[in-house]
Amino acid sequence: MYRTHTCGELRMEHVGKEVTLAGWVQRSRKMGAMTFIDLRDRYGITQLVFNEDTDAELCAQANKLGREFVIQVVGTVNERYSKNKNIPTGDIEIIVSQLKVLNASEIPPFTIEDNTDGGDDIRMKYRYLDLRRNAVRKNLELRHKMCIEVRNYLSNLGFLEVETPMLIGSTPEGARDFVVPSRMNPGQFYALPQSPQTLKQLLMVSGFDRYFQIVKCFRDEDLRADRQPEFTQIDCEMSFVTQEDIIQTFEGMAKHLFKVLRGVEFDGPFLRLPWAEAMRRFGSDKPDMRFGMEFVELDDILKTGAFPVFDNAAYIGGICAPGCAVYTRKQLDQLTDFVKRPQIGAKGLVYARVQDDGTVKSSVDKFYGQEVLQQLKEKMEAKPGDLILILSGDDAMKTRKQLCELRLEMGERLGLRDKNKFALLWVTEFPMFEWSEEEGRLMAMHHPFTHPMDEDIALLDSDPAAVRADAYDMVCNGVEVGGGSIRIHDPELQEKMFEILGFTPEKAQEQFGFLMNAFKYGAPPHGGLAYGLDRWVSLFAGLDSIRDCIAFPKNNSGRDVMLDAPAALDQSQLDELSLKLDLKA
Ligand code: ASP
Repeated sequence: MYRTHTCGELRMEHVGKEVTLAGWVQRSRKMGAMTFIDLRDRYGITQLVFNEDTDAELCAQANKLGREFVIQVVGTVNERYSKNKNIPTGDIEIIVSQLKVLNASEIPPFTIEDNTDGGDDIRMKYRYLDLRRNAVRKNLELRHKMCIEVRNYLSNLGFLEVETPMLIGSTPEGARDFVVPSRMNPGQFYALPQSPQTLKQLLMVSGFDRYFQIVKCFRDEDLRADRQPEFTQIDCEMSFVTQEDIIQTFEGMAKHLFKVLRGVEFDGPFLRLPWAEAMRRFGSDKPDMRFGMEFVELDDILKTGAFPVFDNAAYIGGICAPGCAVYTRKQLDQLTDFVKRPQIGAKGLVYARVQDDGTVKSSVDKFYGQEVLQQLKEKMEAKPGDLILILSGDDAMKTRKQLCELRLEMGERLGLRDKNKFALLWVTEFPMFEWSEEEGRLMAMHHPFTHPMDEDIALLDSDPAAVRADAYDMVCNGVEVGGGSIRIHDPELQEKMFEILGFTPEKAQEQFGFLMNAFKYGAPPHGGLAYGLDRWVSLFAGLDSIRDCIAFPKNNSGRDVMLDAPAALDQSQLDELSLKLDLKA
């Protein structure tokens, strides 16, 4: 037997017992005749003791052990003289009588400690060592627990987990496909699923009225801060349901997960915000509702004919930052630089401080008298000590998005984006389509299988841009954690949708003929949603990035630096796949 106990298991009740432990040498300290070693495994750390005076040879052996050596020891559990209250095994130690080195280790490239000295790159290259650290290991344990909870919760509601294939054709979720060449079908390629969207819809046609799957999805996108080319979804679909049924089911699941994984309970149902309102009040379809600072439209007050920048703007909006009138010139300049950054793109920032005596001092004092500034203060509901920040622009949507960034920045600065606070909501009534400048056509905002809201179907021909979708996103703390829609199940409506999206009937048939065909054989009304598993786990774990809850993630250039993938293929492999490369320099 390699071990009788784990390194996290022994307590006072085991004192006097002979045990065998196996694990890694975390650290060793020599103090006079004594040598202490912290032995670590997945479950914890146990202190080993060697005494030169009682067994000089054994102690000499112990002194030769390096960090991360794998060892096995036999010894007796002893009550510790100085107890360590910081670890569960801190009351005891093992007086070692036998030591066996199971494997030596080179000196690790970084310290395997909570506060490691290893930078990001080196830890990714040696991810298997990084995973020995508590912090990362805990995230994977949480992830496992979450998957179990999800499976039990959905299974208890009659959901069936069904696997769908990875080698499929294109699934339109708005990203590029990762493709896999087929050796047996030269010149042809599979696409990896961007999501199992069409397959889960086919399962509904098959009568599996409650489906879920914890499933890998692949999207070839330019990686922004918190994306991975492969990620995991909790993918779900239901038949004979309305939006309300889906929201009830998955709000229930969210609440359950919060309760069991974080001990957080919510009063009443989550807020629901129509998309247009979310954009108007927060400039975002995923507003962070942990704090207020809502937008106030100021056109009526500030368009006086005195300040051409405002007079010519399509939108003027302000936020009120409580207590920030004390901001120095330098801090205000920093904020101005912040909104002018190319990623945000505002032209400038107007500010107004409400002074202690109630008067307002602004950066546009030369255009506005105190009377207008007082109206501004009233409309903003600003109090003495508050700072009003105003953006304007000739494109209302763009300006709102800029103001959203400023709101989030102020929330951050004021410490209002507390990781231990959770504000959840549903955003509903998304526009069905959005115009793509790049493609010069309407694109589906969600995906082409989304059902329009019933009351807007009549607008499909006359004013498609005004059509709202029967779609919903769940948002937590400014992050989209899930989303879905009621689907089209009528082949004619689906055909029409493809037509509006610019597919010729032939192209639609070629790409989605299988689905439209299936719809001819009794497709039930259905809808569903997918939760982003990585996002959920990182939210529960309080992480800034989803990377730290994925065992082997890719870096920001989509590389696995440990495996050194992607990599070139041998010529023989290319030949077998009938592939010829034409690499642009
Ligand atoms: N397939 C969708 C997605 O990946 C989710 C859904 O509509 O169920 O975003």
